[in-house]
Amino acid sequence: MSALLLNLEPGDEVIMPSFTFVSTANAFVLRGAVPVFVDIRPDTLNIDEKLIEAAITSRTRAICVVHYAGVACAMDEILAVAERHGLTVIEDAAQAIFSSYKGRRLGGIGALAALSFHETKNVISGEGGALLVNDPCLEERAEIIREKGTNRSKFFRGQVDKYTWVDVGSSYLPGEIIAAFLAAQLEQGEAITRTRLSLWDTYHAWAEPYEVGGVVRRPVVPVECTHNAHMYYLLLPSLEARMRFIESMREAGVGTVFHYIPLHSSPAGQRFGRTSGGMEITDSVSGRLVRLPLYVGLEDQQEAVIDAASLALDSLQVEFG
Ligand SMILES: *Cc1c(COP(=O)(O)O)cnc(C)c1O
Repeated sequence: MSALLLNLEPGDEVIMPSFTFVSTANAFVLRGAVPVFVDIRPDTLNIDEKLIEAAITSRTRAICVVHYAGVACAMDEILAVAERHGLTVIEDAAQAIFSSYKGRRLGGIGALAALSFHETKNVISGEGGALLVNDPCLEERAEIIREKGTNRSKFFRGQVDKYTWVDVGSSYLPGEIIAAFLAAQLEQGEAITRTRLSLWDTYHAWAEPYEVGGVVRRPVVPVECTHNAHMYYLLLPSLEARMRFIESMREAGVGTVFHYIPLHSSPAGQRFGRTSGGMEITDSVSGRLVRLPLYVGLEDQQEAVIDAASLALDSLQVEFG
């Protein structure tokens, strides 16, 4: 919907990280736009704001930032670059509901933002999401695009006496059952976030000695960011260390996963996008990151997960520490 609202045309460029889920790029590729991938910061794993300006060309239309793990990108710097070059900032806030940056909620900073309510996120409806429209100039058309390109919303409010097809659009509204499920989740949003933060803090305190020992690097949350405990990850010393960690967790009955295959090295990323500058951090991090289980309901089992992870890291420490 953001891509439609911006009237992107074939050949237009959108700057984004390569270290993200495919949906960040797909939205724009579907309009014929070219994702231009920029490397990430080694601390937050968010797009490196210092590399954005060098990626701008005469075709650049937007910067799509991703608040990885619910930790904010450097929005002040990014908004300033966008303003200097007349670009729109879109926030992929899929992971970032209830997070904030200098007191401002993520998803409320760029002209447009998207939340995800996919079952893997903090607040869920199975499948689903929300477009947040922060630029009032885009509101009216967003409503039309959401309603199959019709002005039906105006009709419901009694502003027109019949509704008709006025623009492009599709069927973006959730059904009643999904909306009801989501409403209940949103009512529990604060409690969900509190529980997740407590699980996150427990992992973070447990992992500290391993970081001091040099065998892992823990997530970094800058002081200006308040996060939502979307994810707890560890960075291991190498791809091989990660394979051994995951295998050892599996033997203890704990499933752990990693991500992302960088978009710039995936077949579709190579076909539809291009890189700007090197991708060293993206490539390095994507081979070494592992996620620990984190969901409401884990409370009683977290100790067992930590025991298994301690065992796995102790044996890695002998080699890598
Ligand atoms: C989950 C996720 C998406 C996609 O969300 P959907 O609701 O599946 O469309 C996009 N971007 C990021 C960074 C995500 O984590």
